[in-house]
Amino acid sequence: MSKIIVTGGSGLVGFYLKKVLKDAIFLSSSDYDLTKEDEVKKMFTDLKPERIIHLAAKVGGIIDNINYPISYLDNNILMNTFLLKYSHLHNVSRFTSVLSSCAYPKISPHYPMKEETMYDGKLDENTFSYGLSKRVMATQVDNYNSQYGTKYNYIIPCNIYGHTDKKSENNSHFVTSLINKIITAKKNNDKSIKLFGDGSPKRQLLYAEDLSRIIKKMIDNDIIESFNVSPEEVYTIEEISKMALEVTDNHMINIEFDKTKPNGQLIKTLDTERLKTIFPDFKFTNLRDGIKIYYNEINDTI
Ligand code: NAP
Repeated sequence: MSKIIVTGGSGLVGFYLKKVLKDAIFLSSSDYDLTKEDEVKKMFTDLKPERIIHLAAKVGGIIDNINYPISYLDNNILMNTFLLKYSHLHNVSRFTSVLSSCAYPKISPHYPMKEETMYDGKLDENTFSYGLSKRVMATQVDNYNSQYGTKYNYIIPCNIYGHTDKKSENNSHFVTSLINKIITAKKNNDKSIKLFGDGSPKRQLLYAEDLSRIIKKMIDNDIIESFNVSPEEVYTIEEISKMALEVTDNHMINIEFDKTKPNGQLIKTLDTERLKTIFPDFKFTNLRDGIKIYYNEINDTI
């Protein structure tokens, strides 16, 4: 197998990818700060990668995105640009970057959103810098391929959940934050949990383990197409919250929606036709089972 380097290996997706890509080298920011060109250059000289799975990114929740927009823009653009530049200079044969549904328009003319419609509308203002850095990376990958004939690609996951996601209130993603709130309410005998927005936004949610299995299959089958990664199940935030209370046996806890806080995009559903053509037999973990597994994983560690 070719020498595989995974950037962002200490993050949420890296946690699960380590279990299926046992021979790859997983890096964190303490190995190389990828926003610094001299460190990226050194990383390529030291490790001589043949394939790169580029997970590293500045990632966070809405409030963090609103408070630190230039950090989201600069850090991500710098990392992506240097990684691609040195991959090309060192003849890396395959490079896969991970985008996000935040790269798609806030309001799309078409739902679910197909890969080729990424540029058909303005980005959500709350995650504008993060979303823009991901759109730019899609353009960079496509342009390397058209100008230099490289075989680089990107995958576009919907919202992800799983173990080791960031824990703080402002950084955490929806399911992580929801489960943390349920665990805290249970411990304190609170009657309710408070959630951002009005509960109406619709979401697809991807268990990080499923994404790691897709990446493994992509490598094993040498897939060089770019594609969305999402289960087809779509639920509102309110439905997901009720489901989480039910499957974790916390029926007595009520949900209060804080309508003074942002909802985020109202709908972000991704089309799965291309994914199904590439991997017709792939089975996603359904959300009910995924939440239960994740809740048990978290409970085992506290
Ligand atoms: P995560 O848990 O926030 O982890 C981020 C990773 O990036 C960590 O390993 C971190 O290293 C590394 N990193 C950050 N800044 C770095 C720097 N300057 N130099 C080197 N490494 C740096 O992210 P994730 O949730 O696993 O996400 C993986 C990828 O999926 C990202 O590209 C993200 O945009 C994308 N994605 C995530 C979601 C989601 O809901 N989580 C949804 C769609 C797409 P340290 O641990 O050392 O800080």
